Amino acid sequence: MKIITTTYIALGSNQGEKMDWLKKAVYEVYKAIGDVTRVSKVYKTPAWGFEGDDFLNAVIEVNTRFSAEVTLEKLLTIELQLGRIRVENIGYQARTIDLDILFYGNETIVSERLTVPHPKLIERSFVLYPLADLVPNLIHPTLNKSVSELINNCKDTSPIEAISDQLQHKKAEFRQVNYLTIEGNIGSGKTSLAEMIAEDFNGKLILERFKDNPFLPKFYEDQARFAFPLEMSFLADRHQQLMDDISQLDLFSDFAISDYNPNKSLIFSKVTLQEDEYALYKKIFDIMYSEVPKPDVYVYLYQNIERLLRNIKKRGREYEQNITPDYLKRIHDGYLNFFKSQNKIDVKVIDISDLDFVANREDYLYLIEKISEINTKSLR
Ligand code: ATP
Ligand code: MG
Ligand code: MG
Repeated sequence: MKIITTTYIALGSNQGEKMDWLKKAVYEVYKAIGDVTRVSKVYKTPAWGFEGDDFLNAVIEVNTRFSAEVTLEKLLTIELQLGRIRVENIGYQARTIDLDILFYGNETIVSERLTVPHPKLIERSFVLYPLADLVPNLIHPTLNKSVSELINNCKDTSPIEAISDQLQHKKAEFRQVNYLTIEGNIGSGKTSLAEMIAEDFNGKLILERFKDNPFLPKFYEDQARFAFPLEMSFLADRHQQLMDDISQLDLFSDFAISDYNPNKSLIFSKVTLQEDEYALYKKIFDIMYSEVPKPDVYVYLYQNIERLLRNIKKRGREYEQNITPDYLKRIHDGYLNFFKSQNKIDVKVIDISDLDFVANREDYLYLIEKISEINTKSLR
């Protein structure tokens, strides 16, 4: 999964209700690109490079998981959404909104579509002033000068004044619980979602360590022979890991987020083990887990089988490539039957078949909201 990059985006408007355009742009950037963590003051400046109405300019700080190229694409889409009309070959024009990438981390990019840092930022006080509100000490990656130094060297003498109207930053909200579990079938994206939530909201991530299990590849070769040692080894592993992670939690009292729950052992082993093996397994499980804390919010991501197969193919773990639709179906039914048979845990099933929370931030925000709405009291 892509890590978060901090980018600075310049906003400019010189048509219509300019302040409204800036506000709308902040909101659209938040929805499509990432949290708008800080906003500069708003500055009024005369049109630059062409005759026209005055501009309102501002700079925002955005934390995004998207690449600079994808960020640019999304900015261009927002410009169009907000009524920007581009006419080819006539140079600078009046615009409802202009959204330019000033910095993207400390990357330098020179391509046909995109130049970062923005090549003209050093000539423009209407960009440097708001940028300095946020990061006066940020170093330009190729010029090796801070934003403050760039202002001192800038020859742009056009008048610029901060207006009293202000923009608001905008961050995703999430109601933290003590212990959130995100479950789902193989390939449903539970790990990605857990990672994103942990990173955005400062949760302690408890990820399943299944890649290390030496029985897993063997199991996919010969299920009958290796199911029992596989499940036993998962059981021991998960228990040990969970005890380690949970004991640390008490010290730091952060919220915890896991991409699995011990119950998973029961669900999978019910599918993979013989009846008598399962009975033995269940006995050991109950002894081991009687004292382990339970999540206060428990989510199951439902994803249709075709999408699961596509995801499994895409991530390309060799030993997973022979997983059949039938096996996935049995695991899914196993989960649902298990949830039905339990009265102590209440699992919220969220259908993500039509969502892509990695590519579309709006889908991610929708999931965050859905999870935040889950009433923990009903789960006890
Ligand atoms: P200027 O770049 O002088 O501020 P502008 O913002 O008015 O001019 P636009 O018409 O908004 O120019 O953008 C023209 C093209 O510039 C965009 O389609 C985009 O591909 C390209 N571009 C290159 N680098 C950047 C950048 N850092 N941020 C935004 N657009 C960029
Ligand atoms: Mg511009
Ligand atoms: Mg532009």
